[in-house]
Amino acid sequence: MERSLHQTSGTGEHKRLVVGWFSFTCCQDSTILLTELLNDHFDEWKRVVEFRHIKALKTKNSLDGLDVAFIEGGIWSESQANEVRQIRENSKYVVAIGACACTGQPSTSRNRFASEQINERIRWYLSHFDYGKEVKKLNEVVQVDDMVRGCPMKAPSFLQILQCVDDAIDLLRTLQLADDKPVRTPATASTGVGVIEAPRGLLYHTAKVDEEGVIEDYDVIVPTAQNQINIENDLKDYFNENLDKDEETLRANAESMIRA
Ligand code: SF4
Repeated sequence: MERSLHQTSGTGEHKRLVVGWFSFTCCQDSTILLTELLNDHFDEWKRVVEFRHIKALKTKNSLDGLDVAFIEGGIWSESQANEVRQIRENSKYVVAIGACACTGQPSTSRNRFASEQINERIRWYLSHFDYGKEVKKLNEVVQVDDMVRGCPMKAPSFLQILQCVDDAIDLLRTLQLADDKPVRTPATASTGVGVIEAPRGLLYHTAKVDEEGVIEDYDVIVPTAQNQINIENDLKDYFNENLDKDEETLRANAESMIRA
């Protein structure tokens, strides 16, 4: 079930998530999709999200203090690369939006033009619009924290990432760590077992120490290992039933199954 932003906040009081939305060289279909999502989510988001930079919807924009920057499109020139670096410096998280930003395609098709294909007209465009030699995907220019794939972006993945960033920022803002002192006990030869719930499932640790407290044996059973067989079986079933779908869709759905 889709959750609302900040529904899980423990404090009841929180600042709004400060969002920037940026489009570089692209057809802006993900921006159109975002405006369609606003039709459904505007009332919910206006209380908890501040769009501080979104040129498609407002004229006064600022890069200051962005929690998350969503960036669509390929990076076609050094001036665009500099703009992206500035966005990175001002944002806690950067998320690539759509295939052009995530993988370069279809924007990077230009990189494969043979020189004899570049005629006078194309040369004119390249020189008059400050185009660089090659189109780059986003993570060739700045560090990218997450991606929403698809052409245009997959709306459910976008909503999921927005929720995750919102939760993470909320946690960082509200987390209070107690000033506990470490507990020291005299060493004895023994075996200890710890079990904790991690984001993907139960995590087990077993440690065996000698009479001086030196570790003799240590074992960790991680949730991924426990889920591995199910993940593989689910992927087999999914691919067997959906091989007629395009590569982007197959990849996005396989990634969701592995992450889930
Ligand atoms: S990924 Fe697709 S929809 Fe997005 S900008 Fe590129 S071509 Fe357009």
